[in-house]
Amino acid sequence: MIRKTRLFTPGPTPLLPAAQFAIAAADIHHRTPEFRALYQKVLADLKVFVGTKNDVIVLASSGTGAMEASVSNLTSPGDRVLVLSAGKFGERWVGLAKAFGCNVDVVSAPYGETFDLEEVRKALKSDTRVVFMQATETSTGARHPVAAVAELLRQNAKDTLLVVDAITGLGTTHLDMDAWGVDVLIGGSQKAVMIPPGLAYLAVSKRAWEAMEKSRNPRYYFDLRKERKNAAQGESAYTPSVALIAGLGAALDYIAGQAGGDLALGRAKLVNNAETCAAMTRAGVQALGLKLFAPSAPAGAVTAVEPPEGMDSGAIVKEMKSRFAAIIANGQGEMKGKLFRIAHLGFFDYMDTIAFLGALEQVASALKFPGFAFGRALTAAQNEFVACQQNAKAQAKSPALAGAER
Ligand SMILES: *Cc1c(COP(=O)(O)O)cnc(C)c1O
Repeated sequence: MIRKTRLFTPGPTPLLPAAQFAIAAADIHHRTPEFRALYQKVLADLKVFVGTKNDVIVLASSGTGAMEASVSNLTSPGDRVLVLSAGKFGERWVGLAKAFGCNVDVVSAPYGETFDLEEVRKALKSDTRVVFMQATETSTGARHPVAAVAELLRQNAKDTLLVVDAITGLGTTHLDMDAWGVDVLIGGSQKAVMIPPGLAYLAVSKRAWEAMEKSRNPRYYFDLRKERKNAAQGESAYTPSVALIAGLGAALDYIAGQAGGDLALGRAKLVNNAETCAAMTRAGVQALGLKLFAPSAPAGAVTAVEPPEGMDSGAIVKEMKSRFAAIIANGQGEMKGKLFRIAHLGFFDYMDTIAFLGALEQVASALKFPGFAFGRALTAAQNEFVACQQNAKAQAKSPALAGAER
């Protein structure tokens, strides 16, 4: 059989064809009215996509650039900060904050779990300047309670800023930055917005802009104040990634187009899509006798699954690639061999999910998963799909997701 290469990885994710065409056609200079019109539209659309009235800044970097910018722009050497860490991306916050001289407190949870809010509350000190966390920890497939942490800060630490790496959370989980009081919310291009790696974006609250004036950490390329000034004129401080910005514009148009041109509704629909693909996948792998790596708080962005006992997850990753050209992710760092990860963020749909689970059944058969029988994963996923459709219909009565099931 021929094999079509398919990415099922949590960044990069499959590319939207309309965005690929826009990228190829983006032959414009960045100090022209043509670019300014494009950039202004993309910045305005990004606000709607993020769901905020705050300014959104776009950087030519991978997601980590925006994480670094949050640290360098909001902290000074010696500042006390709190990192909530339960995986490789939480650990990245620790490394970044230390690199900029912060005094780092950490609340950690075991890989695959999320945080105890009481522990978070206790770890907040009167001088904690910033709390850093992930919306979804891509290395373990866990979802973290952003709304609850934001509420905790409102109750106990009014002056502490909250910075959320939502690089795989945006477009896969419901987030309400303005209502919850999140100060910085970060996204990346190679995730839910279906375009290649190379752009990071971040929404910044009013009080985070104010805090930047007082922070004494060095910054130059990632000076967000400079980007904001230029963005107000429809330009970026340095040469922007013109092609990716054109691709992002096309992707946001596509997302709006999924909901009759309403981008906010399109985003809600994208979130429902990821949540449905994730729920189908969880049902499917469990029906094969596999265990979820993050069963207590599974993310909509990515599902992490443990291999059968005694099997290295690399065998499943390898079989998926060699037989079906399907690229799934192994565990990161010390989790390598212990889990495999399937993404649901971005340009994935029902068909992709069913096809993936069909292929996984073939892999399970070839690798002799204990008690294996064909059809179990697919049957469970089909039933889950029906349940999700019914749920979405019921939820459509709530204003936040009105119409999102269509
Ligand atoms: C992908 C990802 C990042 C960014 O990684 P880059 O390689 O710098 O783009 C950050 N946080 C999370 C949770 C991610 O999934």
